Amino acid sequence: MRLLIMGPQGVGKGTQAARLAEYFHIPAISTGDIFRYNLKNQTELGKQAQAFIDKGELVPDELTNSIVKDRLAMDDAKGGWILDGYPRNASQVEALDKMLEELDTPLDAVVALDADHDVLMKRMMKRAEIEGRADDTPEVIAKRLDVYTKETAPLLDTYETRGVLVEINGVGDIDEIHKNIVAELEK
Ligand code: ADP
Repeated sequence: MRLLIMGPQGVGKGTQAARLAEYFHIPAISTGDIFRYNLKNQTELGKQAQAFIDKGELVPDELTNSIVKDRLAMDDAKGGWILDGYPRNASQVEALDKMLEELDTPLDAVVALDADHDVLMKRMMKRAEIEGRADDTPEVIAKRLDVYTKETAPLLDTYETRGVLVEINGVGDIDEIHKNIVAELEK
């Protein structure tokens, strides 16, 4: 199973990605998590990405594409994967298309989670308190949502046109949402 999980900040991508990873026995690959790991460990990659992440901007495509390419080439990704937080703009879609073509492994589906703006804001505020992420200040959250609306949301149309989009309501019980996703994927 090769999946993307998409949707706005706070919609529950990470939570559902973890559940799907467990269900399908595939790794959940989150570009945000990879960047945070590198920030924490002050690697070269972390240092290059820091200023962008702190501002809520996208890390430059060249850098992001190359970490995804390396990650998809790892052994545990041979049997499938779920990508969370990538692609986030049209040029990343193109880069991913190229990677998958080279690997001869097409995408099976794109799961799009959605929720109302109010629900998203409430969840983001709660998460900010719990996790204490440096990029969870009101200004940076607003910037990330703005980037999502302008650059990432339009990609859903791309995948819908390709006939791989599965739209799921992201509001409700975590188990129920998981079941809904699996039911749609197994159709
Ligand atoms: P969120 O979806 O809540 O904004 P993520 O953990 O997915 O959080 O991403 C955190 C930050 O990491 C983003 O604001 C961005 O700076 C960077 N990032 C993550 N994924 C990408 C990507 N695909 N392209 C560029 N930057 C990314």
